[in-house]
Amino acid sequence: MIPVEEALEKILNNVSILEPESKPIMESLGQVMAEDACSNVTIPPLDNSAMDGYAVQWESIKGASDSNKIELEVIGEVAAGYIYEGEVIPGTAVRIMTGAPVPHGADTVVQFEHTDEEDRKNIARSSKEIGILREPEKGRNVRKAGEDVTKGDTVLTKGTVLRPQEIGVLASLGYAEVKVVRRPVIAIMATGDELVDVGQPLPSGKIYNSNAYSTAAQVLRYGGIPHILGIGADNREALSKMIIKAMDADMLLTSGGVSMGDYDIVKEVLADHGSIGFWSVYMKPGKPLAFGILEHEGKKVPHLGFPGNPVSTMVTFEQFARPAIMKMLGKTDFAKPTVKAISESRFKNTDGRRLYARGTVAKRDEKYYVRSTGPQGSGILTSMTKANGLVIVPENTDGVHEGDEVMVQMLDWEGER
Ligand code: AMP
Ligand code: MG
Repeated sequence: MIPVEEALEKILNNVSILEPESKPIMESLGQVMAEDACSNVTIPPLDNSAMDGYAVQWESIKGASDSNKIELEVIGEVAAGYIYEGEVIPGTAVRIMTGAPVPHGADTVVQFEHTDEEDRKNIARSSKEIGILREPEKGRNVRKAGEDVTKGDTVLTKGTVLRPQEIGVLASLGYAEVKVVRRPVIAIMATGDELVDVGQPLPSGKIYNSNAYSTAAQVLRYGGIPHILGIGADNREALSKMIIKAMDADMLLTSGGVSMGDYDIVKEVLADHGSIGFWSVYMKPGKPLAFGILEHEGKKVPHLGFPGNPVSTMVTFEQFARPAIMKMLGKTDFAKPTVKAISESRFKNTDGRRLYARGTVAKRDEKYYVRSTGPQGSGILTSMTKANGLVIVPENTDGVHEGDEVMVQMLDWEGER
């Protein structure tokens, strides 16, 4: 048996970062930049106003207060997107809106609230003058050209994962497209004569194929492109044919057929099509795990074969397929958020392997607590729907007792925890 970490290392050694592609920025969320983003523009391009108010020379309003109102001549108005061509000289002001370039000669903007503009409206006094009621510091409410970005700057570097804010920054630089590491296409095959696809009637003795869908959804969640090949019957010819269809993908994920049963022939078929490692991993669920390289007409595709039990498939995906997909995407941090929680349940470890138990984490009084979702059989897929984390029950112990501190790998991280 090999430890989880060793299995993961071997898998990661056999996958590499994919090539770059150019994508419209709106289609690149979650992808990794394959080039630096340099700026052809300065942001903001000109000194501009941070407030609606009056652009003035600070010297003109020195000493202004409620009891010492200073009146200035209003010589014009400027809105965002326009340039005021004249010049602000001592004793004058230009009415200015947020984002509008500060007129030549002005160095300070006095916001409306610090003028008598409202009073003038009420008593219909001339709008040719404005009374200033405060003395702000010099330069107040003026956003300097280039305070965000200067032309020529490298604003985002290769390797950056694009979040909404990076996509916004790319848009601010005028990028319509961005070069990113392309998403891996992940072929998915479920195996088993007992499987029937969704939407079909269910004959006696059969079950619906859930693994292909939970796996495909996990692939999507972590940024891959799932390609469900379908159900492979438990015979060599059918599996061989289907496996060839995976050769256009970047990786093949299969479920089932890697145990010791009479019909567990995935590993044999895979051996016919390349090299296959068949591992016993020191974990539960998910002990039998196949990993190999399919070879066909000069192409090589890595393959991960999960055990068929629905919980095993999902848990082994999280530990092994997820990091592999992330590596192909160009990501370097594969860790899932993990919290230390106080256990409110007893999680038994009966055979020493590291147990990934389904748990529900909640935060109370600034501490995390975790309790079992109930029966932990690896066929009980609804246990995953109740869980928001996998409780990592350490190997070579008799498990976790109530009150013990335990690490929980969070499956989801939404809301306040
Ligand atoms: P296997 O690993 O092929 O021996 O399968 C282990 C268990 O998982 C069996 O009870 C299978 O019926 C079940 N199983 C295998 N594949 C799937 C699947 N795609 N969807 C739901 N259950 C499955
Ligand atoms: Mg099977």
